[in-house]
Amino acid sequence: MADNYPYHSPMYAGQMLKPPHPLARLAYGLAMHINPNNHALDGGRASSQMEKEAVADLAAMFGWKRHLGHLTSGGTMANLEALWVAGQLRPGQTIVASTQAHYTHTRISKVLQLPCETIGCDDRGRLDPGLLEKRLKKGGVGTVVVTIGTTATGSIDPLPEVIDLQKQYNFRIHADAAYGGYYMVASSLEREARRSYDCLRHVDSLVIDPHKHGLQPYGCGCVLFRDPAVGRLYKHDSPYTYFSSQELHLGEISLECSRAGAAAVGLWATHRLLPPVRGGAFADNLDTCRHAALALFERITADERFVPGMPPQLDIVTWIPRAASPAAASRLSRQIFAAAAKLGLHLALAELPTRFFGAPTAGAPARKPRSGHEPTVTCLRSVLMKPEHFDAIPAIWSTLDRATRRALAQPAILSRRRQK
Ligand SMILES: *Cc1c(COP(=O)(O)O)cnc(C)c1O
Repeated sequence: MADNYPYHSPMYAGQMLKPPHPLARLAYGLAMHINPNNHALDGGRASSQMEKEAVADLAAMFGWKRHLGHLTSGGTMANLEALWVAGQLRPGQTIVASTQAHYTHTRISKVLQLPCETIGCDDRGRLDPGLLEKRLKKGGVGTVVVTIGTTATGSIDPLPEVIDLQKQYNFRIHADAAYGGYYMVASSLEREARRSYDCLRHVDSLVIDPHKHGLQPYGCGCVLFRDPAVGRLYKHDSPYTYFSSQELHLGEISLECSRAGAAAVGLWATHRLLPPVRGGAFADNLDTCRHAALALFERITADERFVPGMPPQLDIVTWIPRAASPAAASRLSRQIFAAAAKLGLHLALAELPTRFFGAPTAGAPARKPRSGHEPTVTCLRSVLMKPEHFDAIPAIWSTLDRATRRALAQPAILSRRRQK
């Protein structure tokens, strides 16, 4: 297990990985001694009750007094369930999501045998409402997926505009807030983003991942439906479960059967210490992450050697090294990534549309775009999802500076050969 990146350290500033809170680890571990199963009350009475309470806390965070929902093994299962319900209510109709939506939406739609299409984004990685309307006019769209915090760049789709279109074109709205959902309680969002969060109460279904920003160990996603009546779609007859009582067994409203009750215990306990509400310590920590991202973005913007991507709407920063062409910038990104790792700073790489970085679109593209796809560039990406990142920005910056100087000192011929 020593063969891992130092996820706990603020110098790990790469992928979307955040260590669970010590309390969550402890509660999860203690519950494991009983190993409750939240499929049915027979398998875990206390942990099922804790799940109902913890899920109600999450629903309340979005302003929902009534809801139907439960925990899942993760965001993918939660999205599958939301789109499964959408497909039953809109049989055969198309699901649309932006080109920056999580890749699993396309795959999930295939599993559900529902048609799926993507809608283009603006230069900040947000679903373009103009292009959405163009598609809606053609008809046949049953569900629009809005992403509240895209996985690559943390961009917030313009939910108010999508809700306006809903009035005219009548479709379901599913919000994939697996990553960004908890920013609901933050107070540092820019106006545009806040508007979208404030509209979340109007969507039909919503997914949030407590194992991303919610300080939980893996195996903790959550799906919420605004209309509890969708519960009827789950109706089935099982001869061997649900004998113990007339109360709601979570397995009656869930696609999955056996699930770790320990995940509910971890989340419930964490909510006691750090309730997901505005103005609390949990919300403060999210604001600190966002300020870390803004601080890094500011330094990158002020440095001639870099071209920043869009200003962060949450806590993800993307940038490329300034170079003669996207191909050269991509090469340099990979060199800086490797040099930084050697110096103990762990960043991530991402393949994003060249236009996200404005100017340097001339010259050879990084990769030949597949037909129908736009040209991309390999960029550097940093997810600053630990509050400790804020105090570490000077250290992150000085290491990035050293790594960049090393990469720029490497002869280009050598690096090109290495690429082959
Ligand atoms: C992470 C993520 C998912 C997938 O969730 P898992 O918990 O990894 O299964 C889906 N959508 C978005 C926007 C995400 O960031």
